[in-house]
Amino acid sequence: MSYLFADIVLPLAQPAYCFSVPEGMELQTGDAVSVQFGHRNIYTGIVWRLHNERPDVKRIKSVGRKLYDRPLLDDKQRQMWEWMADYYMCSIGEVMRMALPSMIKPQGRDDEEFSADEFRPRTEAYISLSDEWQERERLEAECERISRRAPRRSQILRFLRDFPATRRNTLGEIPRRLVECDATMLTALRKAGYITINERVREVERNENVSFSLPTLTPLQQTVVEEIHSSQAKGKATHLLHGITGSGKTEIYMTLIGEVLARGGDVLLLVPEIALTSQLIQRMESIFGSRITAYHSKLTMLRRTESYMRLLRSRGGELIIGARSAIFLPIHHLQLVIVDEEHDQSYKQSDTAPRYNGRDMAVLLASLYGGNTLLGSATPSLESYANAQAGKYGYSLLAERYGESQPPHVILSDTMRAVKRGERKGHFNHILLRHIEEALSRKEQVMLFQNRRGFTPYIMCSSCGWSLRCPSCNVTLTQHRTNNRMECHYCGYTAPVPQHCPQCETADLKPMGFGTEKVEEAIAEIFPTARVARLDRDTSTSESAYSRIIRDFESGQTDILVGTQMITKGFDFGRVSVVGILNADNLLFSPDFRASERAFQLLMQVAGRAGRREKEGVVIIQTSEPENRVLKQVVQDDYEAMARCELQERHAFGYPPYSRLIRLTLRHENVQLLRGAATELVEKLRKSFGSRIFGPVAPPIDRIRGLHILQIMIKIELGRSMARARQFLQNDINNIVSQKEYKTVNIAIDVDAQ
Ligand code: ADP
Ligand code: ZN
Ligand code: ZN
Repeated sequence: MSYLFADIVLPLAQPAYCFSVPEGMELQTGDAVSVQFGHRNIYTGIVWRLHNERPDVKRIKSVGRKLYDRPLLDDKQRQMWEWMADYYMCSIGEVMRMALPSMIKPQGRDDEEFSADEFRPRTEAYISLSDEWQERERLEAECERISRRAPRRSQILRFLRDFPATRRNTLGEIPRRLVECDATMLTALRKAGYITINERVREVERNENVSFSLPTLTPLQQTVVEEIHSSQAKGKATHLLHGITGSGKTEIYMTLIGEVLARGGDVLLLVPEIALTSQLIQRMESIFGSRITAYHSKLTMLRRTESYMRLLRSRGGELIIGARSAIFLPIHHLQLVIVDEEHDQSYKQSDTAPRYNGRDMAVLLASLYGGNTLLGSATPSLESYANAQAGKYGYSLLAERYGESQPPHVILSDTMRAVKRGERKGHFNHILLRHIEEALSRKEQVMLFQNRRGFTPYIMCSSCGWSLRCPSCNVTLTQHRTNNRMECHYCGYTAPVPQHCPQCETADLKPMGFGTEKVEEAIAEIFPTARVARLDRDTSTSESAYSRIIRDFESGQTDILVGTQMITKGFDFGRVSVVGILNADNLLFSPDFRASERAFQLLMQVAGRAGRREKEGVVIIQTSEPENRVLKQVVQDDYEAMARCELQERHAFGYPPYSRLIRLTLRHENVQLLRGAATELVEKLRKSFGSRIFGPVAPPIDRIRGLHILQIMIKIELGRSMARARQFLQNDINNIVSQKEYKTVNIAIDVDAQ
């Protein structure tokens, strides 16, 4: 049945608009179409709803043309987009902007520009016997007849006739590349009327092989798999796998993935962005090979687009491994979603709308398809842990490392005491240096963690206290040695390294603090024969640079690897026996209510790099607060204690997981105007939310790229209607931005802010 009108979503922060459907155009919901919108602009839109209700407007524009041979989204994906727009308070258009690779949604000022921007999928020739030669006996008689004169022809015709059905496409045609025969012959056969040849978008081959050589699980791992199955059978769609590093979570994933693929279902494996190019993919590839589609931001737009289009045609049995944005891929036979390192912050998109949490959306997506979710972590997020404790999620604990490998021995080293006793050299306490020395002499490897990149975070004048700051952000500039410049880590601004203080003219400038570059330099000075490398954002600007650093460390080309968070994720290096955390203090003292949880997770993760496989590892944490509760819990490897303390505190103060937080971030270049808007907004919000409103407050860094920043926090108790809260909130915000003077104030809404 064809409809007269279509509501179409455009990749804009706008509601769906109604267009008329030209006569004879057959549309389905989820189809991509071109439409003209605004002044001379042609966009790709998604057909959201088809109907016959003429909207009450004078002139209604008509849909341009249909773009692909099938809808880009199925019903479940559309439901997810709607859910996401609603929950995270943005338009479906903003979801579309994020969800579809840009090449799939061309845009241009006119038709010509639009077409030039369009993605053209690769096509392939498909061969079939013409209708009149479909009948077996008739063809056989013909082959007999011509076999003397044209033996090759009859041979090919028989080949085409007997071609196995499983290797044909859905129309029963045979891919040209599987027919061994030159072009002249095929043309001749076509001219003689034996065959037809069609150019079509390449079809995805059916996944035939269903036997994988899966790892043999240990009895403990096997028990966990059974626990997961039985909790799924009891209707708990989501399961939390709490497994210490090295316990073999990956092996459990593989087993579950293998089961689903063998049934012809699809699996989505989400991993933190940073871990993607690493060993996990290699390990998965060694077992599932060509079944894997990798999807992350380091891939080219063309690769991402091709993956999307290919999956659209898939007949099931796919393993998609991706960063959070992989939840937007068309995975029509989805049966299982696995979220590895589910506590990782990078699952939450914070910078642009939709500000979604990939982990939470994964759970939703799995439920829409009637599938299951497995959340895996050595240090689960307190949200997931609380859900497991409340019985909402299934839960399994895997508390033993695989094989002979032992958990590392964690030592707290008091920096203040070391200084007093003269047991510190540069940034290293003697105990750390001693362990490094021993490790190197045994030909073992060392990892050093410092969560700041660059050489020194700032340079300060020791006579007047001046330091070089970014002109557009309220932060000091970090000195970088490689290009010898001062750099802003928020906007990228750079300046030369100052030689003397512009305020008091002295040349008494002192470097303050230290980043990974300085650690690298200092450790190389102390151990001149050791091969030292560094892994952080500055050294891994390309995928190949990144992989080289990892490969060299893996193969033992490097002895000491210095790095930021980047070194913590998803690696399994067999020869690391010492891990040094150079300054735990800056992890512990942050005003965020999640600071302790995060510090615990990060430290455990870094610590987990030590002593995998046979060697017992040592982790040395340098701190000026050796009495700190969280550090003690790290030493005792006591996640439960950490969780108990933190959950108690969160409960007492009404923080997540016992409430939901919505954070509003207001930005404007004029600080006066910004304050005015924030104050008025808070007044309005107080009327609807009362004491649930906090702020406005300036965040620690209150100016970035020339824009001043103020934040307002809304805390909503569990059980209260989020839908109503969102409605009130949206009204109040609309009220502010509709005032003329505040029109230019940017207000970002972050639901479940991290
Ligand atoms: P996790 O992901 O929990 O940190 P891994 O899956 O990386 O742990 O396992 C740690 C190490 O132990 C890896 O080198 C892995 O190959 C090995 N391993 C774990 N389970 C098995 C198993 N059942 N058979 C063989 N090797 C295993
Ligand atoms: Zn000075
Ligand atoms: Zn800046």
